[in-house]
Amino acid sequence: MAGRRVSRCIAGLLALLLLAGCRANWQATVLRPDGRAFTAGPQTLRDLDAYAEEAGGRRVLPLERVLAAAGHTSVERLTVVEPGGARHEFAWAAVAEEARWLPDGRVEIDGQALAAAQLEAEPSPLAAQVQARLIDVAPTIAAALGVPAPAKATGRALDVPRAPRVALIFLDGLGYLRYGEAQRDGLIPNLAGLGAPLLGLTVYPPVTNVATPSLLTGAPPAVHGADRRGIRTTSAETIFDTVTAAGRRAVAVEGDSLAFNLRNADVQLSGDRDGNGSTDDNVAANALAAIAAGPPDLLFVHWHGIDDAGHTYGPGAPQEVAKIAEVDAALGQIVSALPSQTLIVVVADHGMHLVQEEGRLGNHGHLVERDMFVPIVITVKHYP
Ligand SMILES: [Zn+2]
Repeated sequence: MAGRRVSRCIAGLLALLLLAGCRANWQATVLRPDGRAFTAGPQTLRDLDAYAEEAGGRRVLPLERVLAAAGHTSVERLTVVEPGGARHEFAWAAVAEEARWLPDGRVEIDGQALAAAQLEAEPSPLAAQVQARLIDVAPTIAAALGVPAPAKATGRALDVPRAPRVALIFLDGLGYLRYGEAQRDGLIPNLAGLGAPLLGLTVYPPVTNVATPSLLTGAPPAVHGADRRGIRTTSAETIFDTVTAAGRRAVAVEGDSLAFNLRNADVQLSGDRDGNGSTDDNVAANALAAIAAGPPDLLFVHWHGIDDAGHTYGPGAPQEVAKIAEVDAALGQIVSALPSQTLIVVVADHGMHLVQEEGRLGNHGHLVERDMFVPIVITVKHYP
């Protein structure tokens, strides 16, 4: 009896060890956008541990970090193939926020934990049509001004003529698809009047403190280091650094606080002095004043209100619609005030998708087309 109990005990221990062994050695294939295999395993989670987040008392990795590591820039649908061949398909926008890769190798999506042999991500149809990336903007501005591109830039300069000065206008949260809807609805006559936007791709995660340094350094987050929420500075050279090092003048007009640390620019914060609940009118007034004082070589203007309205009311809500029209009118004033021959670049850092959550109706930060694709408008002002 005792012997049988011991052997049963040993068998139990062996089974436990085997199980533990399996859990420590799990492996899953994530198909890359070109169909090649990216192999995810315990080392992958260790490599990405800096991006793990607290959720329900556990430290878990957002599943998107693995998809991004495998080279994905947008995901329309994700299919999880279990070891037995069962397939589970998810519309990514609906589940991205609550999708995690668990330490035991399973993936947790929409509340269910699945063993994963293979992950197949279908990209947005827009992914194949991208014309420019956010990291191309700083090298493009450098080429136009005839100054060196920031040292760590990997973006490419788009084809632009030399220009005496550049205005970089930053519309926080106006994604490419929202631009198209706003144009169709007649909300943005001034912006649309600058010409058709390039279909642009921002960086992952598509949030302001990660995208702004990519915009200014021409480098992806892995290079400039501000690769997650909370980091607000980079040691990588920015377009402000190269412009001022060349003896030229850069002015940055911001809202009431900096979303990202801007150095080597004459930074002008724009508090809500009139107490109307928005800094957008104050940003516009400060930008107009900067132009009137003698236009700088590089003028950076950052409007925040479209993003704020998108979070609070949701994209498409009347308040967000009114905000887009208001910012477009302010943009029209800036464009009118700029001297002829100014190269005008209008970009967004990310878009916004509809969510139904406590206290907010819009959000961004995910590998979904509404967040990842942004308009990039580039034109030379030819009229007085
Ligand atoms: Zn936001």
